[in-house]
Amino acid sequence: MEQKCKYIFVTGGVTSSLGKGIISASLAKLLQARGYRVTIQKLDPYINVDPGTLNPYEHGECYVTEDGAETDLDLGHYERFLNVPTSRANNVTTGKIYQTVIENERRGDYLGKTVQVIPHITDEIKRRIKILGDSGDYDIVITEIGGTVGDIESLPFIEAVRQLEWEMGDDNVIVIHLTLIPYLAAAGELKTKPTQHSVRFLLESGVQPDILVCRTEHPLNAELRRKVALFCNVNVNAVIESIDVKTIYDVPLVMLKEKLDRVVLAKLKLPAKNEPALDQWIEFLQHIKHPKHEVNIALVGKYVELLDAYKSINEAFIHGGAANECKVNVKYVNSELLTPENVSSKLKDFHGILVAPGFGGRGIDGKLNAIKFARENNLPFFGICLGMQCAVIEFARNVMGLKDAHSAEMNSETSNAVIDLMSDQKNISQMGGTMRLGAYDCNLVKGSLAAKIYGKSKISERHRHRYEFNNKYQKEFEKNGMVVTGTNPETGLGEIIEIPEHPFFIGVQYHPELKSTVENPHPIFVKFIKKAIEQII
Ligand code: GLN
Repeated sequence: MEQKCKYIFVTGGVTSSLGKGIISASLAKLLQARGYRVTIQKLDPYINVDPGTLNPYEHGECYVTEDGAETDLDLGHYERFLNVPTSRANNVTTGKIYQTVIENERRGDYLGKTVQVIPHITDEIKRRIKILGDSGDYDIVITEIGGTVGDIESLPFIEAVRQLEWEMGDDNVIVIHLTLIPYLAAAGELKTKPTQHSVRFLLESGVQPDILVCRTEHPLNAELRRKVALFCNVNVNAVIESIDVKTIYDVPLVMLKEKLDRVVLAKLKLPAKNEPALDQWIEFLQHIKHPKHEVNIALVGKYVELLDAYKSINEAFIHGGAANECKVNVKYVNSELLTPENVSSKLKDFHGILVAPGFGGRGIDGKLNAIKFARENNLPFFGICLGMQCAVIEFARNVMGLKDAHSAEMNSETSNAVIDLMSDQKNISQMGGTMRLGAYDCNLVKGSLAAKIYGKSKISERHRHRYEFNNKYQKEFEKNGMVVTGTNPETGLGEIIEIPEHPFFIGVQYHPELKSTVENPHPIFVKFIKKAIEQII
């Protein structure tokens, strides 16, 4: 009989931002590299149905899956580390759980019963956790629980974990608790008390962690590990040190050294089969640590205050840089501050310009100024989603002479809406989950820059937008030197624009950054960096 799926839960204590997502992804990587089929799921305790409507300032970017779910940015880490796509089932929020339970209640599924957190909400949480395990696609499901233990919102999730452990047994369910061991400079000591407290919080909910992963700025000595183990009731070898590292991509190797994967497998009574096959990963790390080149890229956008707002783009630059043995310095340029007068002085020292995705009209003029500068100065240009739409607007205004050209998103009155709302979007009034979302096929024009970059004629990429290139103008654009080189085979919508006269000018309606992984750096990023390097040599 096929082995049943096993479950690993990852909770966080003491403070948020300890990197549960990276620890989960790193453990998954090690297990995968040993030959196990692994996926990672994120449970988010907030009430939003999905993060699609959250402000990127507050929550970082919204990550879109192949099947069109708007999800937490941690899913991006999972895909980048594992090189396996996630899906709608990999991100569940409290909002989604309640939505389902309330729909069930209205349908009459619980007729006669009082609907309660236990068992109705916890049952729905358990059902969502088991969907992935029951699919038969995985040997191990790692479920990361967002928030910090002790938060009111996460209580039902912790209770669901307790029940699952009780139902399935210790060999099938384990809990890893990620915690902080702070260093008090004045005392010159590492302190274990916050960890003891957060483990006590978990215990109050009936959950005994099996493994503690301890974030720390200084190494944990044997005595301290023993103390944590004793007070928190875990084995000494289950106290794992997670020391600060330079790049998140180091974490799997740090966890390997600490034997996290071995301890996990032993607890789940699974064989530690082969040694992990990590050659490609190690080579990638070599490339990012010992680059032969260095380039500066301007990332022009409006969400420049919060680094996480463009998380996947940043990571795609790391992957694309490694493929070129190049260090990529991505510098954020606030589009609101770019004027025709200062654009040259602000952008002239960059080797490439990327105009970012985004929503709304703020900072648009600055983006148009940046694009004009890149176009006229033969600087490598890469526009993503809104960045592509801006390239179309800039070209229409400054090359084709359509002075009022705009996107209907910013100006619905314009007589030249070169970017317009799709007809099937016109009657939508609800904001959540109503954009064009997820993977769509795209055919590439033979001989185009896009076809050369991808090395094939049919691709699939992920989308998240409402507005589109207006095909009515396609001929006029082509006459003037901007061509559409990628189209959706079903709808005929233009997905890629290029200026063949320019050494590297490409705009894409989709989000290539979402598909870039350590093992599969995205080809447009790889080529863009290559062109940027050519600016120097
Ligand atoms: N705001 C634009 C649209 O909705 C672009 C979206 C984006 O950049 N993701 O079409």
